[in-house]
Amino acid sequence: MNSPTVSAAQQGSRNQSSENQQPAANGNSAHNGQTTPPKQWQRSEIAALFALPMNDLLFRAQSVHREHFNPNEVQVSTLLSIKTGACPEDCKYCPQSARYDTGLEKEQLMEVQKVLEQAERALQTGATRFCMGAAWRDPKERDMPKLKAMIEGVREMGLETCMTLGMLSNEQAAALAEAGLDYYNHNLDTSPEFYGEIITTRTYQDRLNTLQSVRNAGMKVCSGGIVGMGEEQKDRIGLLQQLANMPLPPESVPINQLVKVSGTPLDSLEDLDPFEFIRCIAIARILMPKSHVRLSAGRETMSDEMQALCFFAGANSIFYGEKLLTTANPVADADQRLFARLGIRPEAAKPKKELFYDAAANDSQSAR
Ligand code: SF4
Repeated sequence: MNSPTVSAAQQGSRNQSSENQQPAANGNSAHNGQTTPPKQWQRSEIAALFALPMNDLLFRAQSVHREHFNPNEVQVSTLLSIKTGACPEDCKYCPQSARYDTGLEKEQLMEVQKVLEQAERALQTGATRFCMGAAWRDPKERDMPKLKAMIEGVREMGLETCMTLGMLSNEQAAALAEAGLDYYNHNLDTSPEFYGEIITTRTYQDRLNTLQSVRNAGMKVCSGGIVGMGEEQKDRIGLLQQLANMPLPPESVPINQLVKVSGTPLDSLEDLDPFEFIRCIAIARILMPKSHVRLSAGRETMSDEMQALCFFAGANSIFYGEKLLTTANPVADADQRLFARLGIRPEAAKPKKELFYDAAANDSQSAR
């Protein structure tokens, strides 16, 4: 799987070029209505943003944010683990890998009805998108009918649908899109250079290929990374460059702070400076002005004040609910209280096929 805390795949990517590995030319640009390609960012330009005084960076990020989004709305998703643990991959941050003893209880793929009950609960607590994550290297053909039934059922409730299931072939992506899947999550995790320190069972290019399959099928892309895994700032720069310079940047960009789960190889790393995390959010907002930037894993250890700063820096999406796959997440009540204190409203659902980079959609976002 490639969850919001996570992703999948790796390779010995220290051998790969640091310059902007990308999916092949995207076949969807005419289909999605994008008129001008996004700016191609150099690493030196991104490094200059990291070097700005904090107040200058936050002011710039908030200014960009207001050009494209209502600054007082945050998109709310709920995440359900539909198949837990026993994953064959070796992502060093992940409690679901079968290689690490984290005490996690394994669960088979859930029954469709149980998933739909959870989706109904998510709807009642105010979520507009329902994300379903499975700890797999990739989905098997025998699982596809159940997955499709989950997508169809969740979509019928009026929720946007998202899945994270690991690597996808073109055919699997097309089948999920056909069933009505709005988003597919597959994180890049980190820079191409640091990637091999974190995952060795699949390559960076594998990930890019899956993202290309998702685009080929016409779905929206949710892709981001994790910071605080022992990488250097140049790796955070490399990750953000990869995301921003895609032919179409991801519509949803989760920025995760490492959750140090006991038993995983990264469980005793030092914490990243919280201001460096906020800088990552602000720079993601500047580089990908029309994307939803998601304050994702790690939020449960953040103070209300830090979360407020992240929203000011341009984060406009969160996971709501008690669990973020297998790690704790602030309970929905606490989130609702925080929204009320900050005057933030949940963003309305948009369960439809248009991409955020659709020209008409961009016009309407700019008008708000
Ligand atoms: S170990 Fe498996 S479930 Fe965990 S992030 Fe990697 S691919 Fe996803």
